[in-house]
Amino acid sequence: KGLIVSFGEMLIDFVPTVSGVSLAGAPGFIKAPGGAPANVAIAVARLGGNAAFVGKLGDDEFGHMLAAILKENGVSAEGVILDEGARTALAFVTLRADGEREFMFYRNPSADMLLTPDELDLGLIRSAKIFHYGSISLIVEPCRSAHLKAMDEAKSAGALLSYDPNLRLPLWPSAEYAKEQIMSIWEKADIIKVSDVELEFLTGSDKIDDESAMSLWHPKLQLLLVTLGEKGCRYYNKNFRGSIDGYRVNTIDTTGAGDSFVGALLGKIVDDQAIIHDEARLIEVLKYACACGAITTTKKGAIPALPEHSEALSVLNGAK
Ligand code: ATP
Repeated sequence: KGLIVSFGEMLIDFVPTVSGVSLAGAPGFIKAPGGAPANVAIAVARLGGNAAFVGKLGDDEFGHMLAAILKENGVSAEGVILDEGARTALAFVTLRADGEREFMFYRNPSADMLLTPDELDLGLIRSAKIFHYGSISLIVEPCRSAHLKAMDEAKSAGALLSYDPNLRLPLWPSAEYAKEQIMSIWEKADIIKVSDVELEFLTGSDKIDDESAMSLWHPKLQLLLVTLGEKGCRYYNKNFRGSIDGYRVNTIDTTGAGDSFVGALLGKIVDDQAIIHDEARLIEVLKYACACGAITTTKKGAIPALPEHSEALSVLNGAK
């Protein structure tokens, strides 16, 4: 199976033990390992694919715990660096009464922000068939330069580049800077996935429609996906476009749904890139990805909720 290398942050979310409370009002918190790029790597591996995570963790108990979680889930941690001087990133996350999430980050700076270009495992990165990343690793140096170098190395070695911006506005100095930086690497990506919220943010339009989605198109892009939560997703290719309905499930916590969707999609495309340009086959793959996203909302947390291939199939078959 072709290797998917996912680059960026892995951290621990501290989630209130009860939902619908403020951070101050929470009676307690539980540790929920996460970080979108790490979730994607684990999503790929859980579905039977070949994945590696590249990023930096603190050389502390939490960093060791996260590295162990990657390995336990069959993700290569060869490209993980431990920083002796900085802590593993933490985020406190509230699940508000309306189901939306609010974040408070502890990154001053955290280890993930300190990855340098020299620390990259270039052999690993060059062996990727797909190189996946977000935008949090673009926020500050030296991680920003490491991100840009890793992306360029992967691309010149022939990898497809996959980009999920995963907007986390509170981490950026301003909304304008976030938009400018997220867009600064836009035209390098072969596959881009945005959520409806990100589409609105990046286009400045309050409409989620084909016109606003296509305003994000760039000439070298092969596939653009807009995920719509319980409503499924829309897909855009140079020659066709359409939508996939969401699956009805008993949603408890949407954390990681987008990462599960991306992991499922990339795991199917990695050994058969022709899928991207064959609408009938792409639709089958996107149904599978939507089923994986849906399953991930039925349990608390991201990583514990990522499905195995058999679970995804049972949701798909149950829906027929
Ligand atoms: P994240 O919560 O990880 O930031 P996201 O906003 O990037 O996610 P979503 O649109 O929430 O992405 O979810 C990705 C996919 O997962 C959707 O396209 C959909 O197929 C599925 N999904 C998400 N939420 C639900 C839900 N409540 N019910 C059914 N399917 C869902």
